[in-house]
Amino acid sequence: MNRAKRTEIFERLRAANPAPTTELAYASTFELLVAVILSAQATDKGVNKATARLFPVANTPQAILDLGEAGLKAHIKTIGLFNSKAKNILAACRILVDEHGGEVPRERKALEALPGVGRKTANVVLNTAFGEPAMAVDTHIFRVANRTRIAQGKTPLAVEQRLLRLVPKEFLQDAHHWLILHGRYVCTARKPRCHECIIADLCEYKQKTPAPDGAGQTASAGAAVHGADVVAGGHEKPAADATS
Ligand code: SF4
Repeated sequence: MNRAKRTEIFERLRAANPAPTTELAYASTFELLVAVILSAQATDKGVNKATARLFPVANTPQAILDLGEAGLKAHIKTIGLFNSKAKNILAACRILVDEHGGEVPRERKALEALPGVGRKTANVVLNTAFGEPAMAVDTHIFRVANRTRIAQGKTPLAVEQRLLRLVPKEFLQDAHHWLILHGRYVCTARKPRCHECIIADLCEYKQKTPAPDGAGQTASAGAAVHGADVVAGGHEKPAADATS
């Protein structure tokens, strides 16, 4: 894919959704960190339900340490893998209090040293909380980048590095959100909605889904799919998805 096409793709995604962000609910960098750790193999909707109970009670590392393991688990037990996530969050809170003055560090190395925080989670925090042009490649971005040929790669890390190199600078900050949302609602895993896709004429995927009888691609239909109303609808993430 050439640069002009890539630029046009991001111009259209930006026009349809000028201020994209994560669908996880959070009010501080620490809340975002906890929400992203909880979102591994869980839906954003499920995480938001649990954190709506947890954060009013405890939304600082020390407050979560004070809750203790049983107290924390009681708030997050509706989320998959809550036992190991509770242990990781408590261990991460201990490090934040002991080594970072209770603050979430801005450095990748320090973030990835926290239990439960891998490269992808660190990228989400760096991008969404600290405004760094980091690219957290989840299952959606991996699929969309490869299908469209915006940035092809055999591993999430390879796609991440290509995206960072190939996405025009002006779109880097928000590209991660646009690609996730596009993958979650339009370029879905099993049957991409190519007839509603606002970048169909630019996408280089050869096996596009044909339009159902009577349906045609319209810019407005595609734009609606990217719009806030649908995005706020809380669709499910695939089970293999870790964070967004
Ligand atoms: S045209 Fe189809 S395959 Fe290409 S980005 Fe759109 S939905 Fe995905």
